[in-house]
Amino acid sequence: NRTEPFDYVIFGATGDLTRRKLLPAFLRRFHAGEFGQDTRLICVARSDYTPEAFRAYILEYLHKFAPDVAADQEVLRSFIDLLHYIQLDATHPESDWPSLREALPDPGRIRVFYLATAPSLYGQICAALATHDLISPSARMVLEKPIGTSLATAREVNSGVGRFFPEESIYRIDHYLGKEGVQNILALRFANPVLERLWSTEAIEYVQITAAETVGISGRGGYYDEAGALRDMVQNHLLQVLCMVAMDAPASLRADDLRNEKLKVLNALRPMTPDMVRQNVIRGQYTAGRLKGQDVADYTHDLGTGRASNTESFVAIRTKIRTARWGNTPFYLRTGKRLATKTTEIVIQFRPQPWPIFTNMPSSGRLVIRIDPHGELALVLGVRDPGAGGLRVRNATLSMSYEHGFSISYQDSYERLLLDAVRGDPALFIRRDEVEASWKWVEPILETWRQGLTPLEPYAAGGWGPPSTRALLARDGALWHEDMLT
Ligand code: NAP
Repeated sequence: NRTEPFDYVIFGATGDLTRRKLLPAFLRRFHAGEFGQDTRLICVARSDYTPEAFRAYILEYLHKFAPDVAADQEVLRSFIDLLHYIQLDATHPESDWPSLREALPDPGRIRVFYLATAPSLYGQICAALATHDLISPSARMVLEKPIGTSLATAREVNSGVGRFFPEESIYRIDHYLGKEGVQNILALRFANPVLERLWSTEAIEYVQITAAETVGISGRGGYYDEAGALRDMVQNHLLQVLCMVAMDAPASLRADDLRNEKLKVLNALRPMTPDMVRQNVIRGQYTAGRLKGQDVADYTHDLGTGRASNTESFVAIRTKIRTARWGNTPFYLRTGKRLATKTTEIVIQFRPQPWPIFTNMPSSGRLVIRIDPHGELALVLGVRDPGAGGLRVRNATLSMSYEHGFSISYQDSYERLLLDAVRGDPALFIRRDEVEASWKWVEPILETWRQGLTPLEPYAAGGWGPPSTRALLARDGALWHEDMLT
């Protein structure tokens, strides 16, 4: 599974993402023997490092974030030798672009640029790459999220990059698509006709998608307070997961076949009017509470500015997909910080028997696809209660855990995605029209909030969001997953 030799240029090489995620992920894939011969990782940022000092700086993070592979001294030394550092201010035409040019002598080699900087720099960096004749015919551009903060700014970012790179060379990362559990949705649905036959409004009463975090915003408060949960999680990750759950079977697993089907789902989402937002979207912010036996502070305290904030750390949405497949099935999305448990999961709730003959039927069965913290599939079915007299039914769970079922070699979703760009496979990256369709759907929610038409509801840290979140589902006679378990 070795790649062709490649030159991978990382802009933002001294930043948090590169230190914590990208270089540890590269090290792991290098350790797995996937790098072609004479491959180079060219790291670019403004900080003043000699190449040796940069390598020493990164070493510490490799030990911290990939300790198992970094313990292999030989592998670590060979990997470190692949790292080059170029000090360059990407906003300055007079900066040291010639050194970058010298580091990339062969336009025939696979060349990937990864922009791990603020998105406001993406257009400028692409323009400078063009000015300095660094965009080789096969060059690829990987973009980190967020692609914009609104539809207009997303279009600006996309156009800024699109002026210099054709769409098929642009790889927009959504690391959720690199997660085992998310990719497994495709296998589960399209390799198992038995499930796919049930996969519609006829058999499925509702679908819920949850991405719950226990952490607060400390450490990332500046960024988060600008973004909020809707932009940070829903516009990208949760809508991508929803697409994987709801899309029709693609003609093949080729990138554009997959993306065409995802785009159809995004375009079929019921548009949000201000009234719809008021009735179907909950926004919350955490107050102090207790989590895992510890007292935790409120959002304002974690923000550390001493000022109150109107940013949501929680959002729950009820929506529908206007297609024959899904018309009568509500989809519930929710995400938040300082919630009771860290989990990312999808719950597919099956419809009840139209004429129940068992009077004590506990629930009508569901499939739980857990993505984080560990991949797991759980099918909850009604079975005869062996302890009870007569024919009483209780729930039993058939479950499969990835951890125990397989030996997993990928530690992190970035590992799956970084080399896809080298291999020229954009299937797990987001196309421009998907990003813009997501923003188009999300924007009326932001606009309604901007007009102050929906309150920011407090919720105690350690719970499951504002009380109204439960009422949002109760309207449909539905329960959130944690309430099904009690
Ligand atoms: P960060 O820690 O602030 O790093 C930014 C990087 O950009 C630094 O290496 C900085 O290095 C470099 N930089 C800034 N201005 C530059 C310029 N003019 N020329 C060249 N380099 C410049 O940010 P981050 O957290 O790593 O995030 C980077 C990107 O990834 C952002 O778009 C962010 O939204 C996205 N992202 C981050 C995470 C995460 O977990 N951190 C997760 C998802 C997405 P110097 O100061 O040395 O120039």
